[in-house]
Amino acid sequence: MPLHIETPLIASSPLSRKGLDVLLKLEALQPPGSFKIRGIGHACERHAQAGKRRFVSSSGGNAGLAVAYAGRRLGLPVTVVVPETTSARARALIEAEGAELRVHGAAWHEANALALSLVDEATAFLHPFDDLLLWEGHASLIDEAIGQGARFDAVVLSVGGGGLLAGVVEGLKRNGLSTPVFAVETHGAASLARSVEAGHRVELSEIATVATSLAARQVCEQAFEMTKRHDIRPVLVSDRAALAACERFLEDHRILVEPACGAALAVLDEGAADLSGLRSVLVVVCGGAVATIDTIRAAQAALANAA
Ligand SMILES: *Cc1c(COP(=O)(O)O)cnc(C)c1O
Repeated sequence: MPLHIETPLIASSPLSRKGLDVLLKLEALQPPGSFKIRGIGHACERHAQAGKRRFVSSSGGNAGLAVAYAGRRLGLPVTVVVPETTSARARALIEAEGAELRVHGAAWHEANALALSLVDEATAFLHPFDDLLLWEGHASLIDEAIGQGARFDAVVLSVGGGGLLAGVVEGLKRNGLSTPVFAVETHGAASLARSVEAGHRVELSEIATVATSLAARQVCEQAFEMTKRHDIRPVLVSDRAALAACERFLEDHRILVEPACGAALAVLDEGAADLSGLRSVLVVVCGGAVATIDTIRAAQAALANAA
């Protein structure tokens, strides 16, 4: 039994326009709040079958939350090591799933180092985006959408470390599709767009975005390699557009998503990307549990003040 649920596929009237049908895959409705449980649930199940008795993660975001959820469902203990910068809300969500939360270090690499040091023979470490089992699990999103009758000329999704992108492209491939993918990042976290531009994998020297779930300095090799073999179109949107898309999505569909997901939704804004010639798009509403309406509005106010 997979740990993720089959999510609704809906045609969005508010987001569709003349000549463009917008289909939404509502991953925001996964119990731990995002698509991450598809890949992480799949990986955790495999590790448990292989005899692992404990899971470790160093993600203070939706990946850590998905590991905590998977461990609880499988009856195995989970330790999530996060840096001091992790928000009170993220900490509370992880603890609410029954995981052991350890706070260590001023920055993520320190927390990650401690997490790695906890790994032993009986423990599986779950990477948030760079893992074959993760991509295999994320690919189920496309199998499922097609099984639900989705027909689309392009996929729109957001990119952090590129795990979702790698999984979705794998899903398209195993369904015999070469459908183009719009791979969306915010300007301050453009690790894929910069790499495609440079022709090699670039490591960003800094990350500056409200879309914290997209904050990977470097995309995984797998995602970058796929840009050479699949029609992947990097798109950059502003923090402001991502936040506005969250606000609008709440109004239109009564679902709150993180700015990381708002970034993908913002591609539907007039002029954000060249969608000409497309009759229908499938948008992966990746979700995210870490933002609240208050943090989204505070970020909008901060941007308005800075302008
Ligand atoms: C993890 C995450 C992303 C980015 O996924 P990657 O696999 O890192 O590219 C986007 N949105 C949300 C809500 C996430 O949790």
